[in-house]
Amino acid sequence: MRYALVTGATGGIGTAVVRRLCQDGCYVYVGYHHSQQKALHICAGLSCCQAVFLDVTDFSAAAKQMAEIERDCGHLDILVNNAGIAQQKLFTDITDDDWSRMVQTNLGGVFACCRAALPGMIRRKYGRIVNIASMWGQMGASCEVHYSAAKAGVIGLTRALAKETALSGITVNCVSPGAIDTAMMHAFSQADIAAFCEEIPMGRLGSPTEVAAAVSFFASEEASYITGQVLGVNGGMV
Ligand code: NDP
Repeated sequence: MRYALVTGATGGIGTAVVRRLCQDGCYVYVGYHHSQQKALHICAGLSCCQAVFLDVTDFSAAAKQMAEIERDCGHLDILVNNAGIAQQKLFTDITDDDWSRMVQTNLGGVFACCRAALPGMIRRKYGRIVNIASMWGQMGASCEVHYSAAKAGVIGLTRALAKETALSGITVNCVSPGAIDTAMMHAFSQADIAAFCEEIPMGRLGSPTEVAAAVSFFASEEASYITGQVLGVNGGMV
């Protein structure tokens, strides 16, 4: 049995990743922050997972929680750093707090969870880390400078950490979604989404299951010689 932790597992993409990894035969720890009920609901429908509270911005508490998970299962094989927040603002309106919250959650959380998971993975010479970036981290988005910067940081972290851990049998890769139909898109009006879809070569939003398929691939044995890569799931946008 392979054991996986998915952070931010109660959101659209996280839930799809949990379901997919369960289908792949993994036992999954379903990380939630505010949405405990959602996490319990996801787990009630599946026999291969359990809900765990994990605030990725609290680095020391997250490390303790991950140590607890390792004690529980014996070996954490797969870490999917998916927790994230978004915000749309003019650059000059971004406050110090907005900036800190964005970077601490979307980039700091990846740092903290990788740092907590790695000692065990290095000891066992096996690990699969999949970080969820964003096409805006590759292209940059107007009115999402802090989000774009944090996601570009996730890509840089992934590439560098892949080099540092490659000899330890650990792969570190990024899935970089385009516009995916989840609650994160609810900040936009239907008209905005329709206009946006016109710019997407495939003419539609992506689905969380399409992102989950890419995560599943990086987490699988088939991807054993692939590390430090960024796989876009973006309908042709990048
Ligand atoms: P959702 O808004 O649906 O879900 C966000 C998830 O992140 C929730 O499970 C939430 O947990 C969790 N979360 C937020 N803050 C924290 C925290 N401090 N600690 C732990 N968990 C936290 O988003 P999506 O499913 O759409 O996004 C998932 C990932 O994909 C994000 O990293 C996002 O940036 C990325 N992405 C999404 C795209 C899209 O178009 N949807 C495009 C590109 C990238 P809870 O509800 O329990 O508080």
